[in-house]
Amino acid sequence: MRADYLMYKLACGHIMAHRGLITTPALLCGYCRKDSLVTGIQVTEYHVKCANCTFSRWCGLAEPQARFWWGQHDISHRAVILYEDNPKSRRALVKLIGKGIIAEEKK
Ligand SMILES: [Zn+2]
Ligand SMILES: [Zn+2]
Repeated sequence: MRADYLMYKLACGHIMAHRGLITTPALLCGYCRKDSLVTGIQVTEYHVKCANCTFSRWCGLAEPQARFWWGQHDISHRAVILYEDNPKSRRALVKLIGKGIIAEEKK
């Protein structure tokens, strides 16, 4: 997952990665090949980070990618794979709800 991409949840049930904040409430779904309403942002992601250094990689929903980064890291360090909220995605979601582009998620 490139740093400037967000994972948008669509009404059709798919998730599409899109660069930056959207400005309209619909995105082209690459699976359905038509516009679909954005219902939210996937904020929980696989996150590889290290207790011994500043190493940090957000991997979206790609667990194999997280395992790859984990495996690449210095084995003398204590790197861990977490599944947690990405603060960047959380901030983007709050911003888009504030602008009225995404409707507040029902709990
Ligand atoms: Zn779709
Ligand atoms: Zn490290």
